[in-house]
Amino acid sequence: MSEVVFDCNGDDVLAIQVKEHFLQTGVINEPFQCAFCLIPVTPKAVRGDEFRVGPHFQIGDSDHSPDCPYGSLGEKRHNTKKSSSTRIYGTEVFLPGRLVPHRAPSTTVPGGATGVTDALGLASRIKIHGDLLSIENRSTTTLVATAVEAWLIARRLYYGEARDKRVREDHKFVSDKLRNHPLSLFGRELNYNSAFHKFVSEWKGAAIHYGKAAVERIGTADYILRSVDTIKNSDTAFDGFVRLQTSAMASNLMTKKLVESLDTHNAAGTTVQWFGYGAMVQNGPGTSWTFDIVESPLIYLKGE
Ligand SMILES: [Zn+2]
Repeated sequence: MSEVVFDCNGDDVLAIQVKEHFLQTGVINEPFQCAFCLIPVTPKAVRGDEFRVGPHFQIGDSDHSPDCPYGSLGEKRHNTKKSSSTRIYGTEVFLPGRLVPHRAPSTTVPGGATGVTDALGLASRIKIHGDLLSIENRSTTTLVATAVEAWLIARRLYYGEARDKRVREDHKFVSDKLRNHPLSLFGRELNYNSAFHKFVSEWKGAAIHYGKAAVERIGTADYILRSVDTIKNSDTAFDGFVRLQTSAMASNLMTKKLVESLDTHNAAGTTVQWFGYGAMVQNGPGTSWTFDIVESPLIYLKGE
């Protein structure tokens, strides 16, 4: 279950957001407590840079208050036990609906998060923060990696469904299914079909582009991902590349791991499967396509 909890700043957070915050800042805003009944909870699987194990919160000796949306009685009333058909990182998570900028922590602790577990406090907190229980409001992410993993899982799921139903046009079946899931990219309303674009042709507007590329190092700290994918119905490689300005990126665990991975591929001469958010620009008529990435949350190199 992906509980909403308060961190030490009184900000409401999900386990996945704790992990994303750690990747971008190296900080875990402990201690955490249930956003409704205020029992202490401990985040698990949030400190690594892996995207396989689902981040979650673990309760200690005390269980959620029965009327808490995560308690024995509240679960049914608030529909918090309901699982979704799609999962990311092995958790009961949904397809995130919005890719948003990383949020700076609050400096003030709002009233309510004082450790009082009386019934009145619980009811008022449910009133104030209850909208966070809806799947849509819970499902924001600050990482391209999270949206990509969700997309890959959904695709796998729908191709499986097409196979089981013996659908003839399975690509169309999958696209139609993906279209039903909204995905806003920094305020641009798209969906899980239209937000992703294979980097082998022109594309207008910002999207999550993806492809296979060779890694080249530029100067001492920047890199180029040069496309090795071929244009549709041809043997010609798409003349496009992504400039990864790692020298301009925030110095954090994400950037460090990104640079390590780029160096490994560069040294070994191996290609990499990449996903990156940006808008393509043509460098002149009939010339190459490119886009720049200067923030590590906007690029994801998928392990083989
Ligand atoms: Zn609770």
